[in-house]
Amino acid sequence: MPVGYLTVDVGSMFAEKSTALQRHGKRYMLAGKKVVFLKPSIDNRYSQDFIVTHDGKKVEALNVQITNDCEVDLPFDLLNEADVVCIDEVQFFPEEMIDHIERLIEQGKKIFAAGLDMDRYGKPFGIVPYLMAKADHVTKHHAVCAFCGDDAWVSLEVSNDSNIQVKVGNDYKPACRQCAYERGVK
Ligand SMILES: [Zn+2]
Repeated sequence: MPVGYLTVDVGSMFAEKSTALQRHGKRYMLAGKKVVFLKPSIDNRYSQDFIVTHDGKKVEALNVQITNDCEVDLPFDLLNEADVVCIDEVQFFPEEMIDHIERLIEQGKKIFAAGLDMDRYGKPFGIVPYLMAKADHVTKHHAVCAFCGDDAWVSLEVSNDSNIQVKVGNDYKPACRQCAYERGVK
């Protein structure tokens, strides 16, 4: 069996990364392929059992437990049957996930991973930079900067920022490089 590949969709919050991930998965579902959606159990933002994008669209996803020892409890029986594996919020997975992803690629699976490329301090987030380096395809998505309207570059924590009048969903806002630098994140 030929090896698979890795496609990575990254960007700030509200950059439609989950939407891109769902589109990848649904495209293969429509072609009759077996697609498994995974997300870390740490992401309880809207739902336990669905990947929910900010626009409210949802697809069924399996919660993956991460132990205190940073071990990943993957559903290997399902993954063995899968043609395509879509992983959301991949930045929350520990290093062990890299080995799992590489093994799945060797087994011929097509892997799509979506997540934040940087944390709120502008630092590369967890395993994402490694996955970006090893990926066959990387797409960097851009939300709109909440401060000026340019393309966003990073997500800022704005809970103490008086420039933001309305907080939607959480205390993070996408910001372009200029607005991030002006707020001390670079
Ligand atoms: Zn800006």
